[in-house]
Amino acid sequence: MKKDILSILPAELETELAALGEPKYRAAQVGKWLSRGVRSFEEMSDLPKTLREKLDEVFYLYRPQVLSKQVSAFDGTIKYLWELRDGNAVETVVMSYQYGNTVCISSQVGCRQGCAFCASTIGGLVRCLEPSEMLDEVLFSELDSGKKISHIVLMGIGEPLDNFDNVVRFLRLVNDPKGMNIGMRHITLSTCGLTERFDDLAALDLQLTLTVSLHAPDDETRSKIMPANKGRGVEQLIAACKRYYQKTGRRISFEYAMIDGVNDTADHARLLSRRARDCGAHVNLIPLNHVEERRFRPSTQGHMKAFMKILDENGVNYTVRRTLGSDVDASCGQLRRKMQKTESQD
Ligand code: SAH
Repeated sequence: MKKDILSILPAELETELAALGEPKYRAAQVGKWLSRGVRSFEEMSDLPKTLREKLDEVFYLYRPQVLSKQVSAFDGTIKYLWELRDGNAVETVVMSYQYGNTVCISSQVGCRQGCAFCASTIGGLVRCLEPSEMLDEVLFSELDSGKKISHIVLMGIGEPLDNFDNVVRFLRLVNDPKGMNIGMRHITLSTCGLTERFDDLAALDLQLTLTVSLHAPDDETRSKIMPANKGRGVEQLIAACKRYYQKTGRRISFEYAMIDGVNDTADHARLLSRRARDCGAHVNLIPLNHVEERRFRPSTQGHMKAFMKILDENGVNYTVRRTLGSDVDASCGQLRRKMQKTESQD
């Protein structure tokens, strides 16, 4: 079976090539071509032909194809839909901020977590992404857009902690000084709260930012909208967050999508304040993005204001997320979903 060359770390590639009888510097040569986005070993024109053929026997190299690219007329946000090796598709979004360009990547094709407001989970999990596929979401977004990527968020399709080993390998690849060299402190991993993995992640001491999609501070509300809460629970989640913070010294963030009449009452705001203070978390408030198939609506301006007032009174650190790319279905899962619907109508 051929090996996936893009999922191999630069140092490992040296060993692999040494095993093929090649000197160390070849790994750097190959790495340079890979980072330019070549689609075949044939294109690595400064390597001897025999080596190119040998590489082709031992490794495979597959790069994503652009299925669609939408650019927001409002803010320049770019949304890509990539076709993968097996015909599956995932989304990547490139957003420009004052501090740099952030890419939001998918970690799975589909998702099995079942959050009631989310488009990515309709249709369930198809498969996990390989480290190489996540790496190419970043690399090809940069190559195609011409925007140097400085930050990464794992907030696209999928649950990163449900693809733990591949995600960790991806993080090491993208962070490698001989690769894209993106600092761990510029990477954010978002989870729906698979608490059994928090300690494993903390043990790796990666210095990335962990974001927890909390969306409700009590079990009754949270279990209704997030099935992942069942069998775990908010108390367990908060305890896992505290341990993570203690072990890594990295402050956790809570994502909180404001849903009309579901999680936006004064009681929710008060309990959220307590939860945030409990583990020193920063809160990101986001107005819910309406998804066609979902019955939920974003909270009204009035409810959001009242909610924020309570957070203020309780001294909670929070930010209200700007919505970027609203004209390009930039809320992840929506574009892939649209394609699936068109296909099923054909
Ligand atoms: N599975 C991970 C990462 C993917 S989702 C997680 O759950 O964190 C990225 C973020 O978008 C999560 O906070 C998720 O809850 C949120 N999200 C999903 N659908 C949304 C919607 N319709 N409106 C606003 N936020 C949404």
